[in-house]
Amino acid sequence: MNTLLKKLKFNQFETFPELFHAISPRCFKNDRDEIEDFCFLGNDDFGKTKDHLRVFLESVGITNSSLFFVNQVHGDKIFILNDADLTFSEAMKNSADALLTHIPGKPIGVFTADCLPILIYDPQLKVIGAIHAGRKGSEKGILFKVVREMGRVYGSRPENLLAGFGPAIGGCCYEVGEDCVQPFKKMFPDERGWLRSGLSGKYFLDLIAVNKMEGKKAGLLPENIFSMDRCTCCSTPKMYSYRREGKTGRILSTIMLRP
Ligand SMILES: [Zn+2]
Repeated sequence: MNTLLKKLKFNQFETFPELFHAISPRCFKNDRDEIEDFCFLGNDDFGKTKDHLRVFLESVGITNSSLFFVNQVHGDKIFILNDADLTFSEAMKNSADALLTHIPGKPIGVFTADCLPILIYDPQLKVIGAIHAGRKGSEKGILFKVVREMGRVYGSRPENLLAGFGPAIGGCCYEVGEDCVQPFKKMFPDERGWLRSGLSGKYFLDLIAVNKMEGKKAGLLPENIFSMDRCTCCSTPKMYSYRREGKTGRILSTIMLRP
């Protein structure tokens, strides 16, 4: 397959041979040599969804496993894939906004369009995670809770964890009302730089900065948090952006331990 836009990767994850990861571009060239938008969710045709998931996974070298994902609901629940016999269709019935697993050969992923996708890795204990951190999930402290859960379930130490922040709407474009920033003001009363005043009582919220603060609060080392700093709304090449487009497709961020 010949993708038109390069898959996005974190250089820091590329140093681990046991790890596969990638973030999907907007479109690909199909078998008929046409440019086709990736359509992973939000269509009524699940056959097409499955086909596009397969195309993307194959393009990153994952050929014989289906993607494990969950029903994302902007909450803070964490789905732990700890049963090697569970099928992806059973997994997707779970409502959650993060997935964790230690099982090799099981790609896990989250779908986003402006919300922040986070991939997390414990290279000591070989545990991976994928997180959907939108405004509401961030407000509920989903990254903090994932780090805590990795410690509880697997014994992961926060200072060993690596967290990659994928493309999300930036503080350049994410204009919100006062009610949306209040929870973060309470969470981080002494922090600056995650909020900028806009016009007529509005604010620009920086979800990436907010999640960096959450990561640090959870015990991650600042040097182990890395961000693509790529705004889905205004950067080129164009990515799926709910804010810019309204009804739109989704970006898939996936990670897997090599079998
Ligand atoms: Zn922007």
